[in-house]
Amino acid sequence: MTLRELLKDGERKLQEAQIPEASIDAWYLLEYVTGMNKQQYFLSMGENASDEVTEQYKNLIEKRCEHIPLQYLTGTQDFMGLTFEVNPSVLIPRQDTEILVEEVRKQLRPNDRILDLCTGSGCILIGLLAWGVKKHTGNGLCGLQDNLTGVGADISEAALSTAKRNASLHNIEAQWICGDLFENITGSFQVIVSNPPYIPSREIPGLMPEVCQHEPMGALDGREDGLYFYDRITREAPEYLSPGGWLFFEIGCEQAEAVTGMMKATGFCDVKVTKDLCGLDRVVSGHL
Ligand code: GLN
Repeated sequence: MTLRELLKDGERKLQEAQIPEASIDAWYLLEYVTGMNKQQYFLSMGENASDEVTEQYKNLIEKRCEHIPLQYLTGTQDFMGLTFEVNPSVLIPRQDTEILVEEVRKQLRPNDRILDLCTGSGCILIGLLAWGVKKHTGNGLCGLQDNLTGVGADISEAALSTAKRNASLHNIEAQWICGDLFENITGSFQVIVSNPPYIPSREIPGLMPEVCQHEPMGALDGREDGLYFYDRITREAPEYLSPGGWLFFEIGCEQAEAVTGMMKATGFCDVKVTKDLCGLDRVVSGHL
């Protein structure tokens, strides 16, 4: 079979299995297996695929037909311009979450200590700390060292191992702590950020099979009303924030009113909602 036939066969199988974006995924898997870019593919699509490529590709197509997310098959997802390792122990970083990172960046000051609760793959904390590094090596205009430091916490050991690998992949130093939210956290922070599990339990079975059957349930399930973690984090955060410290949340698009209400009731000021690129409420922030 030629590479082109192999690709078309992959596309057809994904379409039959009703995989959204079948042709894009068929291509990404071929790119992953062969290491070819589009240009190299066009030059050699008439050549026969080796047995090894054929077998590996068909195997991955079969797995994608079972709705295993593409990113768990290729093992990576880009976020904030960095490539992160992902596996079924961590939520796949979402583009929406980049809005959260951008909002935090606007408030960061040199020497800030950041806490990322429910860190998962570590993408939020690493995205923030990497920016501190890039900014100063990038243009050389800013004399100050940002000297940002950070702690990433998660209840899952497997997630934390992934976060640690991602940190070393990007030469980022951070502290990684296993525990239930603030359980093993000490000291104070200028910024606390979290994208906690926020899907109401009853809505989970209605999500795409890629999400509800393959992403870690512990990273999705926000209990009865989806607000369980916002409530706990908001109540405990003031104890760990320095005076004037900031709290940032990613939220589900229908949770803005509830989460702003919680933050205001706990004494946070200038509580504001930021929308994502689709115009949906996505981030809530405020400071002490
Ligand atoms: N912080 C990680 C992310 O934003 C994981 C979030 C989660 O597990 N709920 O991707």
